[in-house]
Amino acid sequence: MERQIYLDHAATTQPAPEVVQQMLPWLSGRYGNPSARYRLGQEAGRCIAEARKQVAALIGADAEEMYFTSGGTESDNWVLRSCLSGGTNEKRHMITTGIEHHAILNTCARLEKEGAQVSYVMPDGEGRVDVRDIEREIREDTALISVMYANNEIGTLEPVREIGLLAAEYGIPFHTDAVQAVGHVPINVKDLGITWLSASAHKFHGPKGCGFLYMRKGHELPSFLHGGAQEKGLRAGTENVAGIAGMGAAARLCMAHMSGDMAYVRGQRDYLIRGVESAISGVRLNGHRRMRLPNNVNFSFSGLEGAALLLLLDQDGICVSSGAACNASLEKGSHVLEAIGVPEEYQRGAVRMTLGPETTREELDYVIERLKAHVMQLRELKNA
Ligand SMILES: *Cc1c(COP(=O)(O)O)cnc(C)c1O
Repeated sequence: MERQIYLDHAATTQPAPEVVQQMLPWLSGRYGNPSARYRLGQEAGRCIAEARKQVAALIGADAEEMYFTSGGTESDNWVLRSCLSGGTNEKRHMITTGIEHHAILNTCARLEKEGAQVSYVMPDGEGRVDVRDIEREIREDTALISVMYANNEIGTLEPVREIGLLAAEYGIPFHTDAVQAVGHVPINVKDLGITWLSASAHKFHGPKGCGFLYMRKGHELPSFLHGGAQEKGLRAGTENVAGIAGMGAAARLCMAHMSGDMAYVRGQRDYLIRGVESAISGVRLNGHRRMRLPNNVNFSFSGLEGAALLLLLDQDGICVSSGAACNASLEKGSHVLEAIGVPEEYQRGAVRMTLGPETTREELDYVIERLKAHVMQLRELKNA
């Protein structure tokens, strides 16, 4: 097989071998329904209980505060819809940011059509929102503050602790979409004043189609999917036992390797940033230089299309993304780059490279060399 260098860990991560091993029995012989009373079912039930403890430990929560979902999108929808849809909710205003993932932004757009009101706080030039800007938007009828833990395009870490303090001061629930951060940086929901937190297994070396919603004790949301009594009656549907087992294993691995992986990946990130900045002119690092995810690099190259660069790198077996993976097919530019005020000539030339614990220096040297060649080639074509 031709060589492949995978630099798109923000889009998804490879399930760790231990994760796959942990999942296999539940996809074959141990196929019982966790709600069933016989042993075949009960062992699946125990598997879920064990995984619940493992994911709870990853974010400093109690096992009984964890609810399994189909992923980040469902967890986000659950929170926003529960807090803002009509019917029983009297307060129908929420505060979020202009740089959220579309799981938040498109849900907000839909809720606005249904009569909710949403204030979008804009970040500074490095992608950080200011807690004072959030405070200014607080109203009598504010039902929710939802701010992502870390941005999926530019990696900027948001001031979650300050926002948690602010929310507590005003008695407003605080949700964070932490899909990019869970398993990558240490998180303690208790210290941070988080009411609800969304996460997704496939972003931390677990399987796709499986995630969780943390709900602080006493802040359980009403059921979002109605049906059976799974997840204490709050999330109906037969559990994704294999997925949950895999997510538990992924959480355990993240706990065990986090500090070492963080230091290693951060070192690789800074090596790539320095390498690109010294090899190529007309580049701009998007996002905050220090307050960013250990694995995120996002560069804009002036006078070229990021999409073209992506295709050329793919010819070399290098997987990168121009903006968020799920919007790669859309013609629109990135709402995040626009929000942070990236100059016009840089806006279309963005490339996101997100590293993993398996990324080597040698791979990065090759990436820098290929990037340099393609950037020069594309600029020459443009000026010809
Ligand atoms: C990937 C991602 C999501 C969506 O998670 P899925 O499990 O793929 O539905 C939501 N928010 C952020 C910030 C993400 O990066």
